[in-house]
Amino acid sequence: MTIEVVLLGTGSPVPDRDRAGAATLVRAGGHTLLLDAGRGVCMRLAAAGVLPVMLDAVLLTHLHSDHICDLNDVLTTQWVMSAAPTPLRIFGPSRTAEVVAGMHAMLRPDVEFRLAHHADLTWEPQTEVVEVTTGTVLDDDGVRVVAAATDHRPVEPTLAYRVECDGRSVVLAGDTVPCAGLDELCRGADVYVQTVLRDDLVRQVAMPRFQDTIDYHSTVAQAAQTAARGGVRTLVLTHQVPTPAPGSAEEWIALAREHFDGEIVFGDDLVSISV
Ligand SMILES: [Zn+2]
Ligand SMILES: [Zn+2]
Repeated sequence: MTIEVVLLGTGSPVPDRDRAGAATLVRAGGHTLLLDAGRGVCMRLAAAGVLPVMLDAVLLTHLHSDHICDLNDVLTTQWVMSAAPTPLRIFGPSRTAEVVAGMHAMLRPDVEFRLAHHADLTWEPQTEVVEVTTGTVLDDDGVRVVAAATDHRPVEPTLAYRVECDGRSVVLAGDTVPCAGLDELCRGADVYVQTVLRDDLVRQVAMPRFQDTIDYHSTVAQAAQTAARGGVRTLVLTHQVPTPAPGSAEEWIALAREHFDGEIVFGDDLVSISV
C-alpha cells in the first residue's frame, strides 16, 4: 500500500498566480488527509480529484493565516455537498477550537440563508475539533498519525505530523526551525516535506517585516540538514520564501544538495510523491 503526497499549495503569504497557499494532501490506506488549508485549497483539492466531502480529517500545523485562511471554504463546501450530517474532523494545536468557533460565527448568515432555502438541508455545518500536543493523534485501519511539537516561536504551539501506513512514512512539517521534535519525527522516514526559506535572498530585501521571517523558518540548508540527520529518503521543499523566480528550482535544489545526499524534490503546486 503506498502513501501519496500531493502538494496542493506551495506558496507563501505573498499572493502568486501559480502558487496556492500552504496545503498538502496525503492519501494513505484509504484515508484522505488534508494538512493545512491555505489560499485556494478547494481548487487545488479538486485538481487532485478530491472534494471536501471526501476528507477524513484536516491536520493543522499552526494557526498562522496563510495556513488556515481557506479552512472556512473547506467547511462550507463539505457542508453544502454533504448527504447527511457529517462533522469535519480537525486536528490542530491549542486554540484551534477558538479559530473554528470564529469561523462558524462568520458563516452564520450564510448558514441561515441556505437552511431557509434548501428543504433537504436540515443540519448546520459540523466540526469535531481535537486539540493535540504530541504523540499518536489518529490510529485507524492501519493508518497512524503522530504529532510532535516544532519551533516557530513566537507562534506557539506548532506541530509537525508523521503519517505511517504499511511500513511507509511521511513527515509533514509546517513552518519551523530545526528542533528535537522534528528530528524525532523524521527518523527513518521515507519522505519529509518542509516549508523553506532562502535567507540569502530574503537578506537582500530591505523590508524589516520580511527580514523578521528569517528567524522562525527552516532555511533550505537547515531543512537538508534535518533530512540528513533523520536519514530520510526524499526531501520535499515547499512554501518557498521568497517566491522562487521562474526556472530557479535547480538553484534551490543545489543549496539542499550541499547537506543531503538523498532525493530532493522542489515543490510546485500539484507535484505528487508516492512511497
Ligand atoms: Zn507559513
Ligand atoms: Zn507560520
